[in-house]
Amino acid sequence: MSTISRPSLLIRPEKDTFLNEENPFEAMMSRFDYAAERLSLDPGLYKVLRSPEKQIIVSVPIPLDSGEVEVFTGYRVLYNTSRGPAKGGIRFDLNVTLDEVKALAAWMTWKCAVVNIPFGGAKGGVVCDPPNLSLAELERITRRYTSAIIDTLGPDSDVPAPDVNTNERMMAWIMDTYSMHKRHTVTAVVTGKPIEMGGSLGRREATGRGCMLVTREALKRLGMPVKGTRVAVQGFGNVGSITAQLMEELGLTVVAVSDKSGGIYNPKGLRIREVQQHVKQHRFLSEYKEAEHIGNQQVLTLDCDVLVPAALENVITSQNARDVKARIICEGANGPTTANADKILEEKGVFIIPDILANAGGVTVSYFEWVQDRGGYFWDEETVNQRLERIMVHSFEEVVAMAGKHSVNTRIGAYMQGIERVAAVHRLRGMYA
Ligand code: NAD
Repeated sequence: MSTISRPSLLIRPEKDTFLNEENPFEAMMSRFDYAAERLSLDPGLYKVLRSPEKQIIVSVPIPLDSGEVEVFTGYRVLYNTSRGPAKGGIRFDLNVTLDEVKALAAWMTWKCAVVNIPFGGAKGGVVCDPPNLSLAELERITRRYTSAIIDTLGPDSDVPAPDVNTNERMMAWIMDTYSMHKRHTVTAVVTGKPIEMGGSLGRREATGRGCMLVTREALKRLGMPVKGTRVAVQGFGNVGSITAQLMEELGLTVVAVSDKSGGIYNPKGLRIREVQQHVKQHRFLSEYKEAEHIGNQQVLTLDCDVLVPAALENVITSQNARDVKARIICEGANGPTTANADKILEEKGVFIIPDILANAGGVTVSYFEWVQDRGGYFWDEETVNQRLERIMVHSFEEVVAMAGKHSVNTRIGAYMQGIERVAAVHRLRGMYA
């Protein structure tokens, strides 16, 4: 009897289609491939972990305020649920694509494993332009999208959270829509809710707090002081503004921040509370009078010690990585650095705190929220912050140790940590076939 010979090397079925530096799924996969190779991942498991479990595309028809009907497209991708319910935010943006949602769902899978919380990874999105929609239209989109994906949602199966252009208010509508269908209140179906209806204290600040904590650990590790260390932050939304505020409170000097409208710079340090107040009143930084105005791109290559990209994907690329001057990059945003840029930054000796570690504070406190909702017992803010700190510091140490053990950079170290934890559960569970 003849035996079929099987390739012993890892199989890369779709490698040729992953040629675009700015395709977020490619960016995720190229790091995944390398980390999987370093882990000598079994070829079967490699194929399993390379494939999203479930991809849902829905039409979201709603009447606009004008009475006209518009149909939006919504996605929900459950990348891997071997470690627990799928967890991941919902993004409302014109640039949402299935590839982006898939990449973000995969990152959530590795991220939850890096901080060792019992969740799988998911992400969702609706292609729409929130600034051009009324609150009532956004509510109709949120509720109709929720009802379209309701079969996957649930505290034990899939738990959304806010992401770009979605917030507490929308989480309240998701929770209400889901609860109306189930005929009873289910708080744990979504996280990032208002405190009054089962949200967690400290959740709003959690991602920024996590960024501040891992940067503090990185400074310690590199023997750099806190006082006088200069920070530039791209993005002044939830993540960027809180990171800037907490870093300033820690003693760092925040020399620049930026948003969609441009950047502001003061080499002596901005007063972040004042800048936050300004944005509350005037929405954008472009009108701020107390600092020099600079371009969005300039913020990334400014003379500083710590750079925090906290806005969008693919902002540090092969085009500008050589000009980055920071010694540390703390990735508040998901996927801000392309794989090609990684190589350049590594050559320059830049210490990267990768997204799946740096911004994991948000999902960690989302996990605390889910635990509190399910237990019906709520913690004070100090408890939330202390538990968050313990997890972030420990995860930072584990990632650095993994990178050291395998002589890889911190990004690959983080991927290896996450992938190994997900793979371990697959091995223990075996394959249902
Ligand atoms: P947000 O909508 O609150 O803020 C986004 C900010 O980026 C805004 O200030 C916006 O003006 C700015 N921005 C947009 N385009 C820009 C550009 N071209 N140049 C400079 N700034 C620009 O969003 P957020 O919740 O702060 O999320 C930011 C990033 O962090 C996203 O990648 C998100 O996936 C990631 N993230 C968020 C959380 C969370 O808890 N909110 C958790 C983990 C990761």
